[in-house]
Amino acid sequence: MATFYEFDLNDAVLDGIEAMGYEQATPIQELTIPITLSGRDLIACAQTGTGKTAAYLLPTLHRILEQPQHSKIHTLIVSPTRELALQIDNALTGFAYFANVSSIAVYGGGSGESFDREKKALQTGTDIIVATPGRLLAHLNLGYVDFSSIKTLILDEADRMLDMGFYDDIMRIVSHLPKERQTLMFSATMPPRIRQLAAQILHNPEQVNIAISKPAEGIKQIAYCTYNTQKLPLLEHILQSQDLLSVIVFSSTKQNVKNMERELKKLGLSVAAIHSDLEQNEREETLRLFRNREIRIIVATDVLSRGIDIENISMVVNYDVPGDGADYVHRVGRTARAESTGQAVTFINPEDMRRFGAIEQLIGYEVEKGTMPEELGEAPPYTPGKSAPRGDRGGKGGSRGGKPQGNRNRNRDGKNRSEHKNRGEAKPPRTHEAQPANPQPQGENTQAGAEKKKRKKRRRKPGNENRQAAPSPAPVS
Ligand code: AMP
Repeated sequence: MATFYEFDLNDAVLDGIEAMGYEQATPIQELTIPITLSGRDLIACAQTGTGKTAAYLLPTLHRILEQPQHSKIHTLIVSPTRELALQIDNALTGFAYFANVSSIAVYGGGSGESFDREKKALQTGTDIIVATPGRLLAHLNLGYVDFSSIKTLILDEADRMLDMGFYDDIMRIVSHLPKERQTLMFSATMPPRIRQLAAQILHNPEQVNIAISKPAEGIKQIAYCTYNTQKLPLLEHILQSQDLLSVIVFSSTKQNVKNMERELKKLGLSVAAIHSDLEQNEREETLRLFRNREIRIIVATDVLSRGIDIENISMVVNYDVPGDGADYVHRVGRTARAESTGQAVTFINPEDMRRFGAIEQLIGYEVEKGTMPEELGEAPPYTPGKSAPRGDRGGKGGSRGGKPQGNRNRNRDGKNRSEHKNRGEAKPPRTHEAQPANPQPQGENTQAGAEKKKRKKRRRKPGNENRQAAPSPAPVS
């Protein structure tokens, strides 16, 4: 697993990644970011939940920032649906929070006012246009759009676009673009008609396939919608209501882990914590005791989850929703497969609902939702199409402020660098295959952690002190 620092991305992009809380690149990101940075065309087979959006947005942002200053459209992203277009644009807002890159989502169904706003953005030049085919063609047909400056075309969910009958629309859109460009195509499946489309619009592409294995059928998966304040009592309830031999609880914060350890100990449960404040030998000793069944419950931070190499446990609890689908599948897969008695429990707070929805899309079915015990109060409803803003993190009614606003359409400045450096190179097409989960120890004690700390120190400059708030994607309405 690579850290994002290894890709040598522009500092503003790295700041955005850091603020989004991403630590490690997912397999699709690790394989495709270098290809996109090189300027080559790409066809990638990857489903929602693999981190494909960041896989194409991050290197694209880098390429825009590395250009000499200009004010024309650089990248066109075509999405089959309005929802996906909005989701992509929201992700872009987060990643580009520290970058002077402008974007607009162009999709149908809006008011005349939104059509005029889109028209203006298309005419005056916006770095990135995220569009649905029909609405984009409506603008193109009116004759005022000049796409001659476009350097990159990205087709997201290409198979879905063909399913929805957009083949002719895509070809019409492509006819408005310069022939000399980079084209990236992402598709969840690779049927022959997708390969035909690729042959028509891609030039000598690299190919990447991400094989996602789904959780084994015997594993009982259950998810609870909870407010943050209900998580700990719910965990206590679950742990006390069953006689479980071995349990690992993963949480995204060290503070949660420490808190859980303290509270579960108070209940007389056999528990130990693993987090980055502990020395390596202390962590190893805890794992040894757990393997020997001398400790029944381990509570650990997400950051260390891939470094914990234990299979066949009775229950995995995701105290917070894992970062991506591959992580989810990997964790769930640790439960006792052979005896078919494994359980995987996930707590979903309102702000993580959309992410869990993406995981369900990836595994191809809805995970059963558990009922909150009555004495713990009412649970939030499950609304996977929509996540509460980050401010809900503190629990019911808590607020830390929403998504940062206001940097759209700022002027861009950049360093000089020739584009399409490697375009047209006579490299043979290569196919990259990957499994999603590749357990590797991570965390502050690893080289990546040390590198990150060094970078942070280097980049700390006056005016940066307030860059604490994570630019979280806005909810899709
Ligand atoms: P996607 O496949 O692009 O829909 O992404 C699925 C989810 O994974 C989104 O909620 C992303 O924010 C999240 N995600 C993508 N890349 C990473 C990463 N490197 N680390 C943690 N989360 C990620």
